[in-house]
Amino acid sequence: MNFEFNEEQLAVRDAARDFAQKELLPGVIDRDTHQTFPAEQIRKMGELGFMGMMVDPRYNGGGMDTISYVLAMEEISKIDASCSVAMSVNNSLVCWGLEKYGNEEQKQKYLTRLATGELLGAFCLSEPEAGSDATSQQTTAEDLGDHYLLNGTKNWITNGGNADIYIVIAQTYPEKGHKGINALIVEKGAAGFTIGKKEDKMGIRGSDTHSLMFNDVKIPKENRIGEDGFGFSFAMKTLDGGRIGIAAQALGLASGAFELALAYSKERKAFGKQIAQHQAIQFKLADMATSIETARLICLKAADLKDRGKNYSTESAMAKLYTSEIAQKVCSEAVQIHGGYGYVKEYHVERLMRDAKITQIYEGTSEIQKIVISRSLTK
Ligand SMILES: Cc1cc2nc3c(=O)[nH]c(=O)nc-3n(C[C@H](O)[C@H](O)[C@H](O)COP(=O)(O)OP(=O)(O)OC[C@H]3O[C@@H](n4cnc5c(N)ncnc54)[C@H](O)[C@@H]3O)c2cc1C
Repeated sequence: MNFEFNEEQLAVRDAARDFAQKELLPGVIDRDTHQTFPAEQIRKMGELGFMGMMVDPRYNGGGMDTISYVLAMEEISKIDASCSVAMSVNNSLVCWGLEKYGNEEQKQKYLTRLATGELLGAFCLSEPEAGSDATSQQTTAEDLGDHYLLNGTKNWITNGGNADIYIVIAQTYPEKGHKGINALIVEKGAAGFTIGKKEDKMGIRGSDTHSLMFNDVKIPKENRIGEDGFGFSFAMKTLDGGRIGIAAQALGLASGAFELALAYSKERKAFGKQIAQHQAIQFKLADMATSIETARLICLKAADLKDRGKNYSTESAMAKLYTSEIAQKVCSEAVQIHGGYGYVKEYHVERLMRDAKITQIYEGTSEIQKIVISRSLTK
């Protein structure tokens, strides 16, 4: 076991930290208030190589490991989780899925441009009646010979309004259940594809979350990812890696809130001394730091397993479950340490607390992570 980061990993972390401080911090409160999608910031993240970090350089990616990805996600999420969710979806769900399971033509056509951030991707699994139970897909992809006819509605889709490429999960053979599902690449602008309303959310308000409607959309057969009927497995395998990204996002929200609370506790005075000198505050800081360190280790362990080609499904679920739960507690304590100032936007921690809630919900709720973990224990 080696608990040291290598030079490349440290350089990636420092570059992400620097970028987040210089480019994301100014304007983050305004983007949250007005629900402004961070298009310009994401474009710059693409230029710096943050949108296709783990993709092979043959396809214009950064060729980095998952540990570097966790470090970068943590730094970006400390400042702006709306940017980091776009980064996470593009890296873990879209680029990774295409690189692992797409064919060479799909990689040349789409991955080479997604990896640079020239194109933005979205991953479309959830539906009005299929959230945690993703097997009950109502969206259909009827096989009509040389193409599929796509019909149905997806909802809660991250990057929904701003993406260029959508990976859409749909049922082709209802009689086969989840083994009859396919994953299709859909381009923005396809006839019959419309983007529905943008959700007005509690947190990650800069991220654009939309419902999507497909009405007799013709998708060429060559846009299917993997074998006929592989779509549900594709989605589950892709989400295994996605959960490492969301765990790292939760880690960043927690560590960002902690850093703000620690600094504030050394500035603010009450009863004639810094509040950091009151033991009640010290114990909060000790608990926060301990849970963040524990969370960081489990995120890195899941990332390391993935990098070494081992099975990481259980560990990624554990990382997401644990880190999203502690992010809730740490962000709430950070607000508490700020007192009344924590309750207003200027001090950032209230936003981090609102943003943290989503990490317990998307890419599988905490309850679903427990199902994944307990299944692997009891099988
Ligand atoms: C901001 C945002 C962005 C999102 N981005 C995307 C995206 O890009 N792509 C995408 O496909 N989806 C996305 N989602 C959807 C998200 O993944 C789902 O909301 C989530 O999986 C939960 O599904 P649901 O909302 O239908 O809740 P439900 O499945 O209806 O669950 C409701 C409650 O019941 C619990 N529950 C359900 N089944 C069980 C069970 N068997 N045992 C115990 N408890 C259970 C859940 O844990 C939850 O607490 C996003 C959602 C949000 C809010």
